[in-house]
Amino acid sequence: MRQTQLFTKTRREAPSDEVAKNAQLLVRAGFVHKEIAGVYSYLPLGLRTLNKIVQIIREEMNAIGGQELVMTALQDKDLWSRTDRWDDAKVDNWFKTTFKSGGETGLGITHEEPLTRIMTDHISSYRDLPVYAYQFQNKFRNELRAKSGIMRGKEFMMKDLYSFSKDETEHAVFYAEAREAYKKVFERAGIGSRTYVTFASGGIFSEFSEEFQTVSDAGEDTIYIDEEKGIAINKEVYNDETINKLGLSKESLIEKKAIEAGNIFNLGTRFSDVLGLTYTDETGTKKPVVMGSYGIGPTRLMGIIVEALGDDKGLVWPIQVAPFTYHLVSLGHNGDEVSKAADALYDELTRKGVEVLYDDRDLRAGEKFAESDLLGMPYRIVVGRDGVATDQFEVVNRSTGDVVKKSRAEILAL
Ligand code: ATP
Ligand code: MG
Repeated sequence: MRQTQLFTKTRREAPSDEVAKNAQLLVRAGFVHKEIAGVYSYLPLGLRTLNKIVQIIREEMNAIGGQELVMTALQDKDLWSRTDRWDDAKVDNWFKTTFKSGGETGLGITHEEPLTRIMTDHISSYRDLPVYAYQFQNKFRNELRAKSGIMRGKEFMMKDLYSFSKDETEHAVFYAEAREAYKKVFERAGIGSRTYVTFASGGIFSEFSEEFQTVSDAGEDTIYIDEEKGIAINKEVYNDETINKLGLSKESLIEKKAIEAGNIFNLGTRFSDVLGLTYTDETGTKKPVVMGSYGIGPTRLMGIIVEALGDDKGLVWPIQVAPFTYHLVSLGHNGDEVSKAADALYDELTRKGVEVLYDDRDLRAGEKFAESDLLGMPYRIVVGRDGVATDQFEVVNRSTGDVVKKSRAEILAL
């Protein structure tokens, strides 16, 4: 993509009302636009990153048998009343409104209820199980805190997967697979080394739920990490009993601030009992389906990556989620020799299918480099007069600052 064609502009200063590093950098770089507190639009560069995160998650969910669907944002009050999750006294973060034709509705905060009901049309026998279904969808939650930028939105994207199994044994097999799939997601998104499986409060059907917590000063949670074992305990269940049960010792646990990137939950039969999701087993006996839920916030994940890797110059994207792999910066002017060489290199790279953002604008070099640092593509290729003359172009690694010189042929072979 040519920057002369890109409508978004960057800003030198962070907007004064943004306190979170992720929002400050993403707004400055023109990746997102803040509509109202905690509500963000995703502009072309931001959307490219978000789509890459979504695709990584999609591939890992498909690899463990997930089937993708998409449910509605508008919710059925009667359905949620049956599970006792409609009343504001029980769930305090609904956005509710009314139909002109009468009656109330709300914007989906999560989707256990609608999917369980959908499954009553499709699951009736043990032959229909297990089933794993997931979606990417914007959720709406009237969150009180809006200090974390895109990490805590009132409207945000969630990947929510739900598993439907015959019994706890079958459930446990998938639950373990989901845990491994989640590890792969965070690894591929570039935050694997600072993300820990964290034991947290579980609800009614299992002693613990497991959260994937990424260490970050901007985090709202406190966790206690055992570095060697690579696991952690959330403060909410941090006590001697839990520490013993998990075979850990207090001395080796380090307290850190962290942010939840995802979680996996055993729901047992909480929803299937109430909403009548049953199946007939091999002996003809009717049984409730055993469920699990597995969430990741792709928009939050984007914010976490910015918090973890961004530096004083701007965004720093890991290759797998960068909007473009290369930022080709031309130092040419008005169609001179340098501009022509940069144009040709851009055309050849794009023809090869390489993702390149091409700064073909007529601006000062210093301005272009500062903006390139802010946008944070993994590698910057600089095409200047010397480079064209000697066929040696600077390739700058955004993350390490390392500079290597490569010829045109070497760049095309990258
Ligand atoms: P938190 O404790 O941080 O509010 P949660 O327990 O409410 O999270 P879930 O309801 O399980 O989270 O949602 C699943 C995933 O969706 C979370 O792990 C997180 O990645 C993401 N998520 C939850 N709330 C938000 C939000 N307000 N903005 C962005 N992402 C969110
Ligand atoms: Mg929450």
